[in-house]
Amino acid sequence: MTSIGLNPADDGRAWVEIDMSALRHNVSTIKGRLAPGCEIMAVVKADAYGHGAAEISSQLRQAGVNTFAVATVGEAIQLRESGLDSEILVMGCTSPQDAGLLAEHNLKQVVADGKHAKLLNETGSKLAIHIAIDTGMHRLGIEPDNMAEIEGIFACENLKVEGLATHFAAPDSLDESDIAFTRAQYDKFMDTVNALKGKGYNVGKLHMQSSYAVLNYPDFKCDFIRPGISLYGALHNASTAKNPGLRPVLSLRARVAQVRWIKPGESVSYGRTFSTTRPMKIATVSIGYADGVPRQISGTGAQVLIHSQRALIIGRICMDMLMLDVTHIDHVGPLDIVTLIGRDVADEIRCEEFAMRADTITHDVLCRLGQRLPRIYLP
Ligand SMILES: *Cc1c(COP(=O)(O)O)cnc(C)c1O
Repeated sequence: MTSIGLNPADDGRAWVEIDMSALRHNVSTIKGRLAPGCEIMAVVKADAYGHGAAEISSQLRQAGVNTFAVATVGEAIQLRESGLDSEILVMGCTSPQDAGLLAEHNLKQVVADGKHAKLLNETGSKLAIHIAIDTGMHRLGIEPDNMAEIEGIFACENLKVEGLATHFAAPDSLDESDIAFTRAQYDKFMDTVNALKGKGYNVGKLHMQSSYAVLNYPDFKCDFIRPGISLYGALHNASTAKNPGLRPVLSLRARVAQVRWIKPGESVSYGRTFSTTRPMKIATVSIGYADGVPRQISGTGAQVLIHSQRALIIGRICMDMLMLDVTHIDHVGPLDIVTLIGRDVADEIRCEEFAMRADTITHDVLCRLGQRLPRIYLP
């Protein structure tokens, strides 16, 4: 097999390659766009979007990132157990039952509203918290003009407010009304911040921007940004993001299991949805929807790379395998490497292209990649 320079998986059936140099490049690119005093809070939830949270966090730590965010207490504890001693903020709603774990592992918690704060406070655990302000996402948070509820949190004796956060609903969109909406969200947030400051509260660190807001609204003033997908270099929609040259970190590869010719008029795979109209050389590849290749891209014209050439996926994608039309590609054989996401010498399939086929976003594709795929880290 010659078309891919690096072949660390020997004869593995399917695997994920993680390019740490691309991750470092993305960190320095994003850092280069930040106002002085603003720092990265790296979002490493969902196993760092399928990249491996322990390895990614450790690499980010070495690249000077000191603050991390996850969705659940369990994710945060796994990071602690991997040896990460940095600040970790749990952004999802943690049950009061788990307050002891937050304290024990020195984790910071986003509180969703006054009720959530009260329940956490009543556990008696001493907790560092950030307050979520809902400026228009309408997911978690307190209405910005509900000062009494916000002030009630500052009054909780066991909770120490260390930050205020909000989240934008459409920061990726360059549509005029979405831009106005995002700017209005920012203004509401800052009004609340200023009102609290005016009353003498120490609001701590401010943060609001996920990746697209970092790229599209560099003028917003904050102490932290919360990038996820941009660190991994997989912006989902080329038309909306001002991509400053981020590099994809992840590649998805698998091996050919079998190659053979089939006759015209034969069907391929479950349900017989695809039939040949000519003699066809097909290759069976050892990767399927249990590995995170969405079954719904079957029959959509989705392509992969093999010997640096494009080949169509034909028939239904199976749980552990899929089939390709490789009639036009010479010398395809067992153990040849197939690239589903990533570069193969002269051509590249970006996660963006893969996600578009599946009618979804890159976040969704990456965090569904199967746990049974080995992750191979390239320095
Ligand atoms: C997931 C998440 C992020 C990161 O979003 P990206 O689009 O991946 O940059 C930031 N903030 C919150 C609250 C999130 O849930």
